Amino acid sequence: MTWRATVLTLYPEMFPGVLGLSLAGKALGEGKWELEPIDIRSFATDRHRSVDDTPAGGGAGMVMRADMAAAAIDAGRAGAVHGTPTLYMSPRGERLTQERARQLAEGPGVLVLCGRFEGVDECALEARNVEEVSIGDYVLSGGELAAQVLIDAAVRLLPGVTGNEVSLDEESFASGLLEYPHYTRPREWESRSIPEVLLSGDHGKIAKWRREQAECLTKARRPDLWQKHGTPKS
Ligand code: SAH
Repeated sequence: MTWRATVLTLYPEMFPGVLGLSLAGKALGEGKWELEPIDIRSFATDRHRSVDDTPAGGGAGMVMRADMAAAAIDAGRAGAVHGTPTLYMSPRGERLTQERARQLAEGPGVLVLCGRFEGVDECALEARNVEEVSIGDYVLSGGELAAQVLIDAAVRLLPGVTGNEVSLDEESFASGLLEYPHYTRPREWESRSIPEVLLSGDHGKIAKWRREQAECLTKARRPDLWQKHGTPKS
């Protein structure tokens, strides 16, 4: 069974977008995952194909109608494998983490609703029991970029997608730490040089140095992470 992302959007032409290139794009081309954008507007019933309306209670902007959002969700669910989570990209949601990306990659895929304008009528979110997911504390103009972030984070963890060029278990967050710094040739550049230990060929020493660097960086830059993971297991 192939991992599948179904995306409910008013802008299906925004997909695959960045997901069509590099690691994710190559894997998509090889059939290692599937992407199905569904145009929410195709569920509109009136002549103007409208899917949104003015906010109840007044105020600026437009809100996606509950019936349109729900029709799109239902159609997406009908085509998705049982157990696929329904997510609504939203700044009010729980923040996306590496751990959540890993869980999503282990499941059958995702059904993602992308909002536009002011957002989506709350009735639809409640009635369809949608999980809200945020990619950070800032406001985007639509959920499509956020959906691409979430899908990219999950897809690169699928078996066979990320080759040797990236080592998944050493990178940032995998062990609760930020990653150590990387170096490559040239060995000297603008009077800076690669740390001696990395040229020593002593794998034990190198591993220890990387570990120390990762811990120092995490303590300095992300005291919250350091606090949470205490002294992480090696
Ligand atoms: N009025 C809303 C923001 C709407 S932004 C509020 O204040 O909460 C329009 C759409 O962009 C949202 O419906 C959502 O799908 C998407 N979006 C904006 N910021 C996001 C974020 N940080 N994470 C995930 N999705 C986001």
